[in-house]
Amino acid sequence: MMRILDPQDCAINTATLGFQAPIGDVIEAIARFGFAGIAPWRREMEGQNLKAVAKHIRDSGLRVTGYCRSTYIPANGRAEFEGNIADNKRALNEATELGAESFVMVVGTLRDLTSARTQVRDGVAMLLEHAKSLNVKLALEPLHPVYAADRSCITLAEEALDICDAVEGEVSEPQLGIFVDAYHLWWSVNLSRDILRAGKAKRIFGFHVSDWLNPTTDILNDRGMMGDGVIDLKSIRSMVEAAGYQGLIETEIFSINNWWKKPMDETLKVIAERIKTSV
Ligand code: ZN
Repeated sequence: MMRILDPQDCAINTATLGFQAPIGDVIEAIARFGFAGIAPWRREMEGQNLKAVAKHIRDSGLRVTGYCRSTYIPANGRAEFEGNIADNKRALNEATELGAESFVMVVGTLRDLTSARTQVRDGVAMLLEHAKSLNVKLALEPLHPVYAADRSCITLAEEALDICDAVEGEVSEPQLGIFVDAYHLWWSVNLSRDILRAGKAKRIFGFHVSDWLNPTTDILNDRGMMGDGVIDLKSIRSMVEAAGYQGLIETEIFSINNWWKKPMDETLKVIAERIKTSV
């Protein structure tokens, strides 16, 4: 039997709450329901004093699991590529100010996938140097292959881990790793093998949960609440835990027509229940 989860085992990715309220209200709501962590987005930090936000989060007893997310790396020219790297360096500075454990990287793509993958590897190497100087971790998030055309040329955990090995090499305390998002990876025949490999290398920096609705109406913004879809989340959680992951389990639900329309307290209440029954 797996241990029943508690909100103290979990973090909330703020996208789950639909960006309806100012970040201060979001922090307080997440803390009020007893969750242990928060993963904010860059769009929420516009016009904010990051030190004050970081203090608010800390004073509310929350950890910052991740800061979302990177500017896409691949570009059609050198100047644009350099601009993307510079933008990501600024975001890494913000992640540090917020005290984020990881900077979450959705890497982008191009029609020329070979070029996209080369640029991603080169860009990650450049950003890793900056991340090391700031002592923040870089977390590559492989996305479901349905996004290969518009969001991510990395679609397998294996590919992300190959980049980690190529760029950082074998180290005792890696600063480059991956986020395991159940929504993106649940279908993979090699999931347990890849998660074990990531865990052995101490490269699992985060674990995102939501559910795959069947049928789904929108591949981007119709993610389900845990327990409402087809993903065997308990089984994936057991893989992640068996691989040695001890971090928080983060709920991340993009749901434009359902959860984002509900008051955030209602969504948080349902998450607090579902992590017990369905994760
Ligand atoms: Zn995710």
